Amino acid sequence: MPIEIKVPSLGESVTTATVGKWLKQPGDAVKADEPIVELETDKVSVEVPAPADGRLESHAVAEGDEVDVGAVLATLEKGAAGNTASAKPAAAKSAAKSDAKPAEAPKQAPKAAAPAADAPTQTDYDVIVIGAGPGGYVGAIRAAQLGFKVACVEKRATLGGTCLNVGCIPSKALLQSSENFHAAGHDFAAHGVVIDSVKLDLAKMQARKADIVGANVKGVEYLFKKNGITWLKGHGKVEGTGRITVDGKPVTAKHIIVASGSDSANLPGIEIDEKVIVTSTGALELSSVPKRLVVIGGGVIGLELGSVWSRLGADVTVVEFLDRLVPGTDNEVATQFQKLLVKQGFKMKLGHKVTKAEKTKSGVVLTVEPSAGGQAETLEADVVLVAVGRTAASKNMGLEEAGIELDKRGRIVVDAHYATNVPGIYAIGDVIAGPMLAHKAEEEGVALAELLAGQAGHVNYDAIPGVIYTWPEVASVGFTEEQLKEKGTEYKIGKFPFMANGRARALGMTDGFVKVLACKKTDRVLGVHIIGPCAGELIAEATMAIEFGASAEDIGRVCHAHPTLSEAVKEAALGADGRSLNI
Ligand SMILES: Cc1cc2nc3c(=O)[nH]c(=O)nc-3n(C[C@H](O)[C@H](O)[C@H](O)COP(=O)(O)OP(=O)(O)OC[C@H]3O[C@@H](n4cnc5c(N)ncnc54)[C@H](O)[C@@H]3O)c2cc1C
Repeated sequence: MPIEIKVPSLGESVTTATVGKWLKQPGDAVKADEPIVELETDKVSVEVPAPADGRLESHAVAEGDEVDVGAVLATLEKGAAGNTASAKPAAAKSAAKSDAKPAEAPKQAPKAAAPAADAPTQTDYDVIVIGAGPGGYVGAIRAAQLGFKVACVEKRATLGGTCLNVGCIPSKALLQSSENFHAAGHDFAAHGVVIDSVKLDLAKMQARKADIVGANVKGVEYLFKKNGITWLKGHGKVEGTGRITVDGKPVTAKHIIVASGSDSANLPGIEIDEKVIVTSTGALELSSVPKRLVVIGGGVIGLELGSVWSRLGADVTVVEFLDRLVPGTDNEVATQFQKLLVKQGFKMKLGHKVTKAEKTKSGVVLTVEPSAGGQAETLEADVVLVAVGRTAASKNMGLEEAGIELDKRGRIVVDAHYATNVPGIYAIGDVIAGPMLAHKAEEEGVALAELLAGQAGHVNYDAIPGVIYTWPEVASVGFTEEQLKEKGTEYKIGKFPFMANGRARALGMTDGFVKVLACKKTDRVLGVHIIGPCAGELIAEATMAIEFGASAEDIGRVCHAHPTLSEAVKEAALGADGRSLNI
């Protein structure tokens, strides 16, 4: 009986995809995990793998067709012999194909790019990096450590990119401050700490955030000096192999790395002014707490910044196109997460889309419709946060003129070793496919520098953790239960609630659980999903386990200090074998 191969979940807010190239034809033999078809969306580009060894029986859709998540793509006769003559080798394309599921690690040896005819013979630098975000600045440091003469071009007044200036660091500073404010007003009394009136000094909170950002970006400047990296201040443009300009001035290098990152995406017809209709950048800078905040997009950034302002007193409504939050996250975790946010006062308008935003004297009136069509309604807000994802920053930097291939969503196409189709030009971080995460960009920067030095630089895309820094935190690594089902992998589950963890009880933070997914046959850890206190710290152990190919039993046999939250990870791992001790 043939099995169906379906469109997998494709990440945040993505419900449909376009069928790209068929990599396997009916009758072809396929191996488990071998890519059979390419899917393109406006957010991700994925290769759908075969769930098992067998023969591809039929295509259910054609190249160019629009398909919904969950739609049948093809059928496969499990275990049947097939035609190997026409089977093409698995494409060794992008190192980071998808943010929807763990991707293939690079497999091929570094390629020595043939120099272009007009490449300079003498160069100013060995390596020039365009962009000083976590991908670019970390890659530059690693290249300098390896003995290259390195320059980094950055047009922003400070180093550190989105992450340090307007992303990870300022958002986490405000999350911490707002959490303290909320705890002082709501949670301290339960500990016997009575505060008569808790007051907000938002200007001070914002100043603290600015100090933290300032210290971090200055830290990168120091690291550049320490490692002998030249900061070329200005706008970098690629001219061709070995050649760029910085504010029009030519500079040459043997290797050029584009690490230009990403910018906030917008919705058509919505005009961002960063005052009342804001992106994440404006949402980090508000000088007063909005009475009503509408967040468009139930993804990570919208929920984190929504949490900041909700804790400080805003009435927050989230409008999300899909009927769930944080798509791509394990369903069970996402459901629990939604319940806890609602308990905190979040209003959810799931399965809805914003079709219009009109500014009024007092704020904004949004027109909202059910995603599937239906009666429109209006929502009033003092501030609207547009948090519908991010797009690759690949415009106005000479990439197309230099002949560098971009995909439909403007991301630079690279091979398994971050090389573009133009010799000597590479790309890493948010500007290429894959999860838009600072640590993914950093790992790619390090791997590429090592590859350029002839070493075996490598990123394991199966072990990239993701964290949502809300309360409680949500953290995951590896496959979700839904992905394992789609792959047809037999798995077992170990789960442990924080309610049964002594340290969580002492902290008064008992919401959530740890869920360990392990292979039914081998016990190897395939995925770990945590919702609860300090989930973002706890996930490091799980990431290490996956990186080292550990079994659930391995985690269960490691001595964990008592009382710690990490005991919940151990207990969940023991639970995969039905032998949790404290529940
Ligand atoms: C609000 C928010 C919160 C986030 N929180 C997290 C988090 O908690 N954890 C996490 O992992 N990720 C988080 N991210 C995502 C993270 O910031 C990005 O994934 C990361 O910064 C990408 O790094 P990068 O080096 O690829 O690019 P970027 O950090 O975007 O840096 C690119 C740099 O290149 C410069 N540049 C671009 N073009 C040129 C040019 N032509 N010439 C010169 N310079 C140029 C830009 O000015 C920029 O400084 C967050 C993002 C946002 C917006």
